[in-house]
Amino acid sequence: MPRLVMKFGGTSVADLERIHNVAHKVQHEVDTGYQVVVVVSAMSGKTNELVGWVGEAAAGPDANAPGFYDAREYDAVVASGEQVTSGLLAIVLQEMGVQARSWLGWQVPVKTTSAHGAARILDIPSENLDAKFDEGMQVAVVAGFQGLSEEGRITTLGRGGSDTTAVAFAAALDAERCDIYTDVDGIYTTDPRITQKARKLHKIAYEEMLELASLGAKVLQTRSVELAMRYKVRLQVLSSFSDEPGTLVCDEEEIMEQNAVAGVAYVRDEAKMTLISVADRPGIAAAIFGPLAEAGVNVDMIIQNISEEGRTDMTFSCPVEQVPLARKAVEEAKAQGEINYHALESDTEVAKVSIVGIGMRSHAGIAQKMFKALSDDGINIKVITTSEIKVSVLVDRKYMELAVQSLHDAFELDKAS
Ligand code: ADP
Ligand code: ASP
Ligand code: MG
Repeated sequence: MPRLVMKFGGTSVADLERIHNVAHKVQHEVDTGYQVVVVVSAMSGKTNELVGWVGEAAAGPDANAPGFYDAREYDAVVASGEQVTSGLLAIVLQEMGVQARSWLGWQVPVKTTSAHGAARILDIPSENLDAKFDEGMQVAVVAGFQGLSEEGRITTLGRGGSDTTAVAFAAALDAERCDIYTDVDGIYTTDPRITQKARKLHKIAYEEMLELASLGAKVLQTRSVELAMRYKVRLQVLSSFSDEPGTLVCDEEEIMEQNAVAGVAYVRDEAKMTLISVADRPGIAAAIFGPLAEAGVNVDMIIQNISEEGRTDMTFSCPVEQVPLARKAVEEAKAQGEINYHALESDTEVAKVSIVGIGMRSHAGIAQKMFKALSDDGINIKVITTSEIKVSVLVDRKYMELAVQSLHDAFELDKAS
């Protein structure tokens, strides 16, 4: 029998009424003739609540910064939201006469690394599920976001990780498709919450979606797109609340025409940190960024400016909640004499805005057009980085929405190519 993976996010399973709605969609696919794996998230808001409780239980200085409590226990707590929804959906499906069973990460098992809070899936052996499907199970309701480490402990895959659970199951079980049901009816040129001009895309290339996701478009977790690209999973994003056709994530070759820029993404809560006047010598970057990496700080953009004779300023960006962690790592490196600097400045009021498009490879002048559009709206650019198919800038957070709208207009993303 052909197999299908369906994934439902937090808003789609937010209460029992919505779980019933999900069950009807699943039943429809069972009636069509599929063996179905349904991956569920926790009810919307639940994971945030659980993360908050962990922070409070570990209260102390900087208790909110990851790394200040035992990450194994963080996972034990935050994985619990998905246990509830997987059991509830299995019950509702059973009530409808569907042979359904819930599966937690450890029961499958979803084998992961031991990087608690950001574990990577290593393998999903399919024997246990195969055996149950052979015995007549029609639907496996899998708790998303969670797995099992080699040490036998519960792990989680990072926020938004249920998308990755879904794609990994689609690859492991050779599913015909992986359908990601969410609260928007597809992938748009930018977050439709930021501008009404955002346009739904029929198709988007894996590579573009990968960049958009890693630059903040949370409609899909980055790792899920990476896996879909590697294992050629047909990935579709569509709405739980309507029957509109969604967006297919596919190979570049399947897309006939496209704009130079496919979309605009943003990360609202970024911070910019600058070490003023560090010695400009071989090894200085390694001496600064080594301790930051060891502390688990996700450094993103980096710029180095020669200031005065033999001295340099080093600027980097990271998520705003990691500023205390970054400060601690840098200050400790200074105390140990590994680096020296005059001052450590942080600007916690910035956001990152990026444009992405495969077409940039063959179109000149895209970055210049971006800078002009921002300057026409009076938005100052604080840091710039580019790669083959993206340009990112840091701007003051208060201008983030305006920057997204201005770029969406400048590249006429509301119009199809
Ligand atoms: P779920 O709980 O279903 O996983 P998420 O909240 O993680 O849903 O992701 C869906 C949200 O992603 C949408 O509500 C939308 O605000 C946001 N989003 C950001 N960028 C985009 C985009 N380019 N296209 C569609 N949605 C986007
Ligand atoms: N519940 C988890 C989160 O909120 C995983 C997910 O929804 O994908 O991050
Ligand atoms: Mg999500």
